[in-house]
Amino acid sequence: MTLFPKKTNTDKRFYTATITDILAVHEDIRILVLRPDTPFTWQAGQYINISVGGLPARPYSIASAPGHSLEIHIKRGKGNASAYVMDRIQKNETVLFSEPEGRSVFNETINGPVLALAGGLGIAPIKAIAEQAFRTGFSHPFTLYWSATSESEHYIDENFKMLAREHDNFKFVPLTGRVMSAIIEKDIPHLKDWRVYLSGSPAMMAALVPVLLAKGADLENISYDRHPEAEIPAS
Ligand SMILES: Cc1cc2nc3c(=O)[nH]c(=O)nc-3n(C[C@H](O)[C@H](O)[C@H](O)COP(=O)(O)OP(=O)(O)OC[C@H]3O[C@@H](n4cnc5c(N)ncnc54)[C@H](O)[C@@H]3O)c2cc1C
Repeated sequence: MTLFPKKTNTDKRFYTATITDILAVHEDIRILVLRPDTPFTWQAGQYINISVGGLPARPYSIASAPGHSLEIHIKRGKGNASAYVMDRIQKNETVLFSEPEGRSVFNETINGPVLALAGGLGIAPIKAIAEQAFRTGFSHPFTLYWSATSESEHYIDENFKMLAREHDNFKFVPLTGRVMSAIIEKDIPHLKDWRVYLSGSPAMMAALVPVLLAKGADLENISYDRHPEAEIPAS
């Protein structure tokens, strides 16, 4: 089964945006705030393809809920696009971006508990989903587990801790290292009728899906798109 079908960039239409802010939240992680030059909206959980510095576009999740500033989180990888963002990108620079894509989006008709599991920069679309859930009055339990390789890579813990202080039905569990499967096996009693959002590497998702199914989750209630460390689509 192909979980992550490849797409090409050749059929995409691109728009321009101005970078209005760059936050160095970690040595190798930047938050970019973009101001699209034309009206633009998206669904919480979607991603756009962004071209920086004239390089071929790469997919990046939108980390903010619709109606807010367009926020993108980028981590240094091995290639030239992320290196450009870490080392050279400047405020007021113009970037190109595509229409939003992705089906792992927050659905306001969800009428039951939500479990969100994010690994590393996979937290970006989950942040948008959590923000959208609580700004639209989500009243069921919403539990987020976020694993990162080190504590310093929990660069937006405070956002989720604040959300947990504001909403009794939101629970945030930061994890360090590859412990997610074991923790889910131990912590979660059953997942029947839960909506699950997954966002992380293919290895993380491949490890978690059988655990979730064994806990009674329905495959059609497990939602995910391709992940931050995926291979780039052909440009
Ligand atoms: C749906 C989706 C959403 C994503 N969202 C995010 C996000 O929110 N934030 C984020 O940071 N990333 C995200 N990504 C990943 C992002 O698209 C880029 O792939 C990532 O930023 C790496 O870019 P890069 O320029 O470092 O590497 P790329 O040039 O894009 O290279 C990608 C692949 O080539 C390999 N590679 C490149 N150069 C070398 C080299 N010199 N030696 C060995 N291997 C090499 C990389 O290991 C990697 O497997 C997402 C990907 C997908 C598919």
